[in-house]
Amino acid sequence: MSGRQLPDNWPEIWAARKAEAQKRKHIHFFKVPFARMPYGPDHPEGGPTCRDCGVERGQLHVPSCCMERCPICAGQAIGCGCADDDTPGDDDDEEEEEEVAA
Ligand SMILES: [Zn+2]
Ligand SMILES: [Zn+2]
Repeated sequence: MSGRQLPDNWPEIWAARKAEAQKRKHIHFFKVPFARMPYGPDHPEGGPTCRDCGVERGQLHVPSCCMERCPICAGQAIGCGCADDDTPGDDDDEEEEEEVAA
């Protein structure tokens, strides 16, 4: 046997990561939210699922997927560095108004 050894429950782990990825609908660029680009329209020649992270068309990529395109610069999301909140678990769907003007 060669290559990476994945745990037996890897499919479950990955399914959970994909589910988690659907909750992260935006990235932030200087605090401004940008809708993440789902798999599909930007890869018309691709298969029914993302070849890197495995999400289906219309779903958002798992963070760090090399196929995800940046909505800001249209480059590779993991390589461009536009997003300023790349912290998993820091839910960016919270519509908190932290900077309410007095
Ligand atoms: Zn992907
Ligand atoms: Zn970018």
